[in-house]
Amino acid sequence: MFGWKKWKPDPKEEMIRKQLQDRGIMDSRVLEAFRDIPRERFVPKEMQAHTFEDRPLPIGAGQTISQPYMTAFMTQLLELRDTSQVLEIGTGSGYQTAILASIARRVHTVEKIEELSLRAKTTLDNLGFNNVIYHVADGSRGCVYPGPFDQIVVTAAAPAIPTPLLEQLTDGGIMVVPVGERTHQILLKVTREGHDYRHERLCPCVFVPLLGAGGFLDEDEEDY
Ligand code: SAH
Repeated sequence: MFGWKKWKPDPKEEMIRKQLQDRGIMDSRVLEAFRDIPRERFVPKEMQAHTFEDRPLPIGAGQTISQPYMTAFMTQLLELRDTSQVLEIGTGSGYQTAILASIARRVHTVEKIEELSLRAKTTLDNLGFNNVIYHVADGSRGCVYPGPFDQIVVTAAAPAIPTPLLEQLTDGGIMVVPVGERTHQILLKVTREGHDYRHERLCPCVFVPLLGAGGFLDEDEEDY
């Protein structure tokens, strides 16, 4: 009546406070990346109203953009630096790619589904990212670019840690990967110490399956 509008909290700020900070995400570079990157650009038109919700969302081709907390938690575990060369397996929407690329020096990202890789590239190009290299391939076999990588993040569930990825990790490097059954997994942090790998089991989680040589059988291809 007097031009007074009910005050509404900014949904992105609310997501950062309630879903990330209140649950222990403290790395200021991760929080800043979440402020800088427009998540709505990575969410399909028909899902826009749900952009900042506390859950994964469908992005087409049977895949999902991860829950914000999971993206933040995995990124924080990687202990990124501005000199980091990072490998991501499972580009998906490209949202985590953008978060990683806004902190690290360079990101190589591997996606099995070409349509998703191309869409993610367009979104990141439009946002001005020029430190991301896109690969369409089976990332469970590692990356064609030999690396080595300071950090590796796998955003799909693997039955076991793919050996080619362990080999592409620098000494002192960190890998974060969900490992377990097709329906539920444990998030693992693996730190390379020379020829040894230290494993930490972090929390139960649910990711879409990593398909391919070092992943699960692709059910769509079972008949071939
Ligand atoms: N971080 C992404 C999550 C993507 S979901 C986001 O927030 O949008 C996991 C992705 O892994 C899917 O896009 C799926 O197609 C991809 N994927 C599954 N198996 C793969 C493989 N072997 N190599 C590369 N990508 C794979």
